[in-house]
Amino acid sequence: MNYCSECGCAVSLEWVPEDGRQRYLCGSCGVTHYDNPRVIVASLVCWRDRILMCQRSREPAYGQWILPSGFLECGETLQEGAARETFEEAGLIIDPADLHLYSVMNMTAIQQVAVAFRVQISGKPAEIRPGPECLKVAFLSEEDIPANQFAWFEALGSRPTRLFDELRSEDYTIQLLSIGTNDGTGFRSREYAIRGHHDYRQD
Ligand SMILES: [Zn+2]
Repeated sequence: MNYCSECGCAVSLEWVPEDGRQRYLCGSCGVTHYDNPRVIVASLVCWRDRILMCQRSREPAYGQWILPSGFLECGETLQEGAARETFEEAGLIIDPADLHLYSVMNMTAIQQVAVAFRVQISGKPAEIRPGPECLKVAFLSEEDIPANQFAWFEALGSRPTRLFDELRSEDYTIQLLSIGTNDGTGFRSREYAIRGHHDYRQD
């Protein structure tokens, strides 16, 4: 950040003792600019033993496969954002109310938090088409995804093995992950059993 979004004057990075960290302060209007992590939302759209994947048409990770995902927009719930990204990237309409929490991922090194949801499609899925950020979109099985073609597989702990295992067993968990931490502790995960499911729709 170079300039104040309030008054347009130059900002400087200053130590804020009460916060115990540096922040951008405007020397002219005095505003403190807070820089907080961004939220990524992702969808695991499952059909039979396959999940919907997108082949990236942009760098980084050009040509590699990833889940439909992107930044949460203001005014959206996490589920609405995940459904929107699925439509933008693969042309598939999913109901946000059908999404189940799947994982929450801390990515402190890149100042992001990713929240992933899963949804099961019964019957034949509707037509899919790649959006502008994708070369291809497809429902892929575990065998279809070579580890080295899965975007950021090194950081994410290889292929989504857990998901495919859970798809087969229909015994799902919610996972809390931390990856790529600044202090070098790397990948950590903890799984939570799902004890129950309450349908919050009013119909
Ligand atoms: Zn200012």
